Amino acid sequence: MAPDTRHPDKLDRAVIFLGPPGAGKGTQAKELARKYGVPHLSTGDMLREHVTKGTPLGVKAKPIMERGELVPDSLVLQMVRERIERPDCSHGFVFDGFPRTVAQAKYLGELLKQHGYKRPFVIHLAIDPSVLLPRLTGRRTCKMGGEIYNIYERPPKVAGRCDADGGELVQRPDDREEVIGPRLRAYEKQTAPLVAYYGRLGLLHSIDASKSVEEVGRQVLQSVQSVRGAR
Ligand code: ADP
Ligand code: AMP
Repeated sequence: MAPDTRHPDKLDRAVIFLGPPGAGKGTQAKELARKYGVPHLSTGDMLREHVTKGTPLGVKAKPIMERGELVPDSLVLQMVRERIERPDCSHGFVFDGFPRTVAQAKYLGELLKQHGYKRPFVIHLAIDPSVLLPRLTGRRTCKMGGEIYNIYERPPKVAGRCDADGGELVQRPDDREEVIGPRLRAYEKQTAPLVAYYGRLGLLHSIDASKSVEEVGRQVLQSVQSVRGAR
């Protein structure tokens, strides 16, 4: 039997990863969720699943995602509400890519209150935009388990195959250079204001995301442990 490497304490709250595309939100959120044994909720992954399945939401979201724009709040909020009301979220969960607008953040704040959660813990992965391009163009994701690689910085042992489950590694359509510009602009305009928003609420913890995955992970864990149980 594989050793249980989950963190012994409970998370008991929502953790939010904030940062531009390529900052490392998915990489760190996955690991933190695994350590605490709570769900990793990536709205990007959820939307991609809707696109793959061709659901009504997926049909609406597909062209918007392909242009590198944000999917309308109304569609994303309903999807998130349904997800966090499932029983597996009762001990906390880790968001990646949500909220992305001030309206989403306000809605989430109310939803968490209604469901009796403590105040969320917001981790801002701060990074200079100049390093994001190779992170995004080099990103490859396992089709089976969603593991994240980078052909320049974090390549798999066997090219094109996931180390964990041998699944095929694929490039996201929106990681092409021509879509990256619009995505970064959408971040600056619609999501970056959340740094000040959560800063004013006293919930923001900034981490230097230019360091190695392992170093950023250590700092994430340290800051989460420093407030766990509080508030
Ligand atoms: P996001 O979810 O914020 O868009 P990801 O976690 O998917 O970002 O990471 C984007 C790319 O950068 C991936 O290819 C990943 O392997 C790589 N990456 C993530 N964190 C780091 C890091 N600290 N140093 C170098 N590369 C990283
Ligand atoms: P991500 O996987 O987080 O990089 O998201 C990929 C794409 O999904 C984004 O460029 C948006 O089009 C869409 N998306 C993901 N999360 C959200 C959100 N919270 N609000 C609006 N659109 C989102």
